[in-house]
Amino acid sequence: MTLLKKIFKKRNNSLVTTLTITSDNGLHLRPIARFSNEVKQFNSKITIVKDNKEIDATQVPEILSLSLQKGDKFNLKCKGEEALEASAYLTDFFEQIMKEDIVIDEIIQVKDKYGALSIHGKSVAKGIAIAPLTPYEIRKLTKSKETGLSIREAIRKTKEELYELYQANKAKHESQIFLAQQELISADIFRYECSSVRNFLEIIQKEINRLEGTKFESRIPDYRDVEQRVLKQLGLSSAIEVPTNPYILLADDLLPSEVIKLQNTLIEGVVLQKGTPTSHASILLRSFGIPSMIVTEPIEPSKRVILDANSGNLVLNPTDLDIKKAMDNKKAFKEYQQESYKKRFDITKTKKGEIIKVFANISNYNSAIEAKEKGADGIGLLRTEFLFKDEKPSFRQQLNSYINIFKLFNLITVRTLDVGGDKSIPYINIPKEDNPFLGIRGIRFSLLEQTLFKEQLLAIFQAFQALMPSARMLKIMFPMISTVEEFIEAKEIAVSIARQYNINLNNIEFGIMIEVPSVIFSMKEFNQIVDFYSIGTNDLTQYIFAIERTHPNLVVDSTSPILLSALKMIAQEATKPISICGEIAGLEEVTKELIDMGYNNLSISPKLIPSIKEKIRNV
Ligand code: PEP
Ligand code: MG
Repeated sequence: MTLLKKIFKKRNNSLVTTLTITSDNGLHLRPIARFSNEVKQFNSKITIVKDNKEIDATQVPEILSLSLQKGDKFNLKCKGEEALEASAYLTDFFEQIMKEDIVIDEIIQVKDKYGALSIHGKSVAKGIAIAPLTPYEIRKLTKSKETGLSIREAIRKTKEELYELYQANKAKHESQIFLAQQELISADIFRYECSSVRNFLEIIQKEINRLEGTKFESRIPDYRDVEQRVLKQLGLSSAIEVPTNPYILLADDLLPSEVIKLQNTLIEGVVLQKGTPTSHASILLRSFGIPSMIVTEPIEPSKRVILDANSGNLVLNPTDLDIKKAMDNKKAFKEYQQESYKKRFDITKTKKGEIIKVFANISNYNSAIEAKEKGADGIGLLRTEFLFKDEKPSFRQQLNSYINIFKLFNLITVRTLDVGGDKSIPYINIPKEDNPFLGIRGIRFSLLEQTLFKEQLLAIFQAFQALMPSARMLKIMFPMISTVEEFIEAKEIAVSIARQYNINLNNIEFGIMIEVPSVIFSMKEFNQIVDFYSIGTNDLTQYIFAIERTHPNLVVDSTSPILLSALKMIAQEATKPISICGEIAGLEEVTKELIDMGYNNLSISPKLIPSIKEKIRNV
């Protein structure tokens, strides 16, 4: 699907293309840096036009300060000799980087308690550490040597240093942090307006002020970082004083370069008092596997603390029993991580020898790739509404998207469009409702507005057919089913489309999501007509408790005994294959219980697959 609306206007030898920010993260520093870096290769004047402002597309700080969010549009203007090539290439490149810009998921904390009082924090990187909590005496500038460089030369050398770091780490995701900083310091404000160190520091401060209070505030440490690097070139460096024994660092926030340096010390963990899980420092902490949390409550340094980022606990005065427990957990977690990753492609059997299949919940091609890499046994839920969430796709675009995903797995469960409730799609008009979660959602919409439904079914069928005979099994699943009549009607539509287009329905099954409680009370009828079930506990929970899943204050315990007893009832009643694809399937604390109830198909977020598989091997 083309997410970009191309409006080429050939006027004064310039081409204008409208680009849309499609990433949930907005247009932040790393993608801007990648984009600007590509812009430079063209012999053209390339600018970004937004709200009557025209900005040079190589100027990262300027683009960053536009604070473009998801859904915003801007015009890319290419003028001059290579305008045509530049426009075509950059349009595709922008679409690509938007797709690749993965949203960082919150770490799901396991429930755990310690005897001593603990403070709760937001986990940044998983793991457990037990060590003294040591404050970070940061950034004491000392003149180490006289380099004799001018500020301009120092900036140039910093650029070279960052470029080398980028090249040396190119295979790793973190390399983009260096590219981002290199692009920041390459901006014209540093090239032309910087005449003295003082003036340089003022410019940095001005840029920081511009970011303060915006969504991109977490990029401020990157400015501080380039500032440090330039000062170091001038012979002013900040000595990091760290303990010579293992320690947990207590800091307000960290610069990415500080994390890199600290990584080579005896650091066991990090507690940040400010910062965000998406900052570059946090990305590095995760990639170095340093257990880390953000705790905003004021804390004092302490002789021995437990930092349990798996459960989100910081225990300042642990008892001996707490220490023993944390040490056992730490050891188990390490072994678990190593083992689970090594064995992610192996068959998953419980201790009793029962085979459990672990499928992935995906929403696009990137997550399908991730699922493959993480060892998914197939796709248990393809949320198709996210594939085409910005613009109505053409039939061909739909077909290609399905083919690309289907190619990767032998067993795929595709859910037909599930719109309504909290999922809106701009090109689909559902009249305003007082209670959208109880209104036209999922299959109700598809049955009302059949054109899209039929087109989608045909694209799914033809994609599967195009891959035959290598493709093995396709399951088509209808969302938000509440009555048998709805299923019958939906299946009849699907079968008639198949007949009309000569689709062979061998190896294609039809089933439903169990999300609405009414289904639980009509399982006997459903057993006669469906080929399979998959339980959507996210919606089932909200309908059982009458609490909106997006409600800001009301929450339901995700492993509530009431929900578990509903799952037990369903498992007892179902005579057709059944799986769970709601979030509960990825919660290790109930894995054993679910398997004991008879669930041997679980579908979860790709990144949880290795650890859930390992959990299963141990139940
Ligand atoms: C669910 O409701 O549990 C489910 C898997 O579907 P979604 O979260 O996409 O509504
Ligand atoms: Mg649902």
